[in-house]
Amino acid sequence: MARHTITLIPGDGIGYEVSQAARRVIDATGADIEWDVQNAGLDVVEQYGQPMPDHVLESIRRNKVAIKGPLTTPIGTGIRSVNVALRRELDLFALVRPTKWYPGVRSRYQEVDLVVIRENTEDLYAGIEFAEGEEGTLEVIDTIERLTGRSIRRDSGISIKPTSITGTQRVFRFAFQWAIDNGRRKVTAVHKANIMKHTDGLWLRIAQDVAKEFPQIEFDDRIVDNMAMQLVQKPELYDVMVMPNLFGDILSDLCAGLVGGLGLAPGANTGDEIALFEATHGSAPKYAGKNVANPMAMMLSGMMMLRHIGEKDAGDRLEAAVARVIAGGAQVTYDMKPNRDDPSAVGTSQVADAVIAELERAPVAR
Ligand code: NAD
Repeated sequence: MARHTITLIPGDGIGYEVSQAARRVIDATGADIEWDVQNAGLDVVEQYGQPMPDHVLESIRRNKVAIKGPLTTPIGTGIRSVNVALRRELDLFALVRPTKWYPGVRSRYQEVDLVVIRENTEDLYAGIEFAEGEEGTLEVIDTIERLTGRSIRRDSGISIKPTSITGTQRVFRFAFQWAIDNGRRKVTAVHKANIMKHTDGLWLRIAQDVAKEFPQIEFDDRIVDNMAMQLVQKPELYDVMVMPNLFGDILSDLCAGLVGGLGLAPGANTGDEIALFEATHGSAPKYAGKNVANPMAMMLSGMMMLRHIGEKDAGDRLEAAVARVIAGGAQVTYDMKPNRDDPSAVGTSQVADAVIAELERAPVAR
């Protein structure tokens, strides 16, 4: 029996290609993994009547670790995002998104090594919304007016922003522990507590409380607009940043932009027991089946997964091999070339070949 059984959801669009490339390089590290391959998304709707069938969720619950390619959420149909549903269904409350600059990546910035930890279940992304003009919405408006004395235009739509002590405590405890486990020095709480006193104000207060439990890690906080400016001016001042859902979504893309773009941004959705690894990018349908997408974000998600399951050496070797391919500059996809039409760009599977060759050439991390 293999040492680890891991659920692999290939995804759709470019998902098949990037997850196949990631699987090949993870296997090439020598980590003893049995893959429990489960299909989900639009492609299975006809067969199972839904994009995330119960047996896929059961597989993740059973194996506790999963890696997933991106899944398309069609715009303007009844199907809600499978990605958001998965995070909610499995209570994956912390989304860890590291953004690190590797030598050879073209970017305005160098030496960037940031981690966004995004609360994944609450805030304006909780999915509690009231559509403009509906009876329930008008009832909510009446209730708010009665309770606050403040008027809301009757032709408003409303999204609710819940922020709980429980949700805030657990994401900050997770973040501080993650910082310790990964040798980081500082945690910054990001918020808009000056304006949203009862949600982000609570978030900041709880962050300050939790920080006292971890005196070995430096702690500070930033208002989100200032944070956005500081990230583009002096990203080297920051380390691990913990954000409510919406700010985390936006600023983790900003951080990805600092280090070369979405093709290099990995992520881990983590709960108390389960972790689901995935790239930050989506299914880029226009590139599906063309063998052009950059698989490195998926590979680096695999690196995070290997470290999570205790295969630290394999994770370190995989990161070193990816870094050497980037530094070499030849075996990289179009998005990493100075010119997007550069004919010397290689395909998704060739990047996997190059990373495997590096793993074989230097079997010890350095
Ligand atoms: P996207 O990330 O799929 O693509 C945006 C653009 O970024 C692409 O057109 C491409 O130019 C570039 N890009 C993205 N990944 C790349 C890669 N690996 N290599 C090279 N270039 C890459 O974002 P989108 O177009 O907004 O979304 C497309 C679909 O993906 C939507 O249905 C969306 O819902 C879904 N999505 C899924 C996830 C997920 O599965 N977690 C995340 C985001 C978006």
